[in-house]
Amino acid sequence: MSGSLQATILDLSASKPTRPDVLDRRLDAVGRQPFRAKFHLRGRERVTAEQAAPSTLRLHARDLIAKRLAPAEPYHDGKQTPYRGHPVFVAQHATATCCRSCLLRWHQIPKGRELTREERGYVVDVICRWIEREVASPPAASPPEEPK
Ligand SMILES: [Zn+2]
Repeated sequence: MSGSLQATILDLSASKPTRPDVLDRRLDAVGRQPFRAKFHLRGRERVTAEQAAPSTLRLHARDLIAKRLAPAEPYHDGKQTPYRGHPVFVAQHATATCCRSCLLRWHQIPKGRELTREERGYVVDVICRWIEREVASPPAASPPEEPK
């Protein structure tokens, strides 16, 4: 059906992006929470984030959010976001977009219904902006290297 194909294409073009200064203020507010501030890109996730094109990371974020966060009743909501394995997962914990309870509490997005296209776009913007900031800043302190 050409109608549904067109809808898919429109959907992929996503909503208009949230303004960077709005995103930064939100990220700064969430990042003041000690639990969130502990999350940084390290090791494998940092390498992935540094090497992948921003558009690729965005696609991954869109895909992960659509599957794990956007449904009205996400599978295992509250435990659906791993702590390692992809920079988007780390970003979700750092930005309080890891589950629907955090999304409600920190981003005022209601639970119990599917996320709208705009909300999904907003969440992806938040995640990608956090990754961008992370990659631009020096790696978080890691244990001192042993002299060789
Ligand atoms: Zn959560």
